Amino acid sequence: MENLLVSACLLGFECKYCGGSNFIGGDALAALKEKYRLIPVCPETAGGLPTPRDPSERRDGGVYSSKGRDVTAEFSKGADTAVWLAGRYGCTKALLKAQSPSCGSGIIYDGSFTGTLVPGDGLTTEKLRTAGVSVFTENELQRLLD
Ligand code: SF4
Repeated sequence: MENLLVSACLLGFECKYCGGSNFIGGDALAALKEKYRLIPVCPETAGGLPTPRDPSERRDGGVYSSKGRDVTAEFSKGADTAVWLAGRYGCTKALLKAQSPSCGSGIIYDGSFTGTLVPGDGLTTEKLRTAGVSVFTENELQRLLD
């Protein structure tokens, strides 16, 4: 069975910045488990950030919390952990949470904390793609199941 790297919050882990999850639901989870062995990762907590934590956004090549703290090192460490896990478990695909500054894919918040979206990837997605991993969001779940 193929291994699939997955954002832990999509699997129901309460590792989101506010302390909740982004659970995809029981039916979707069951369908995924029929086809893949799931490898959960939360890059932000793997990088050493606590839960709950202040929200962060990418800006000027770095990542900053809503209070102005530079969390680039933590985000980078977590992204490297995700890349290591993908290599360790032979994951060629990942299912990652849309719009996150770590896990987002194709569109993320612009760093102004005003809810403005711009084209771009989260830091983990960027590093996984550089490593050759195909990244999908929860909005593209069906493509992983076909
Ligand atoms: Fe979910 Fe990724 Fe944010 Fe962790 S870093 S809470 S896995 S979106």
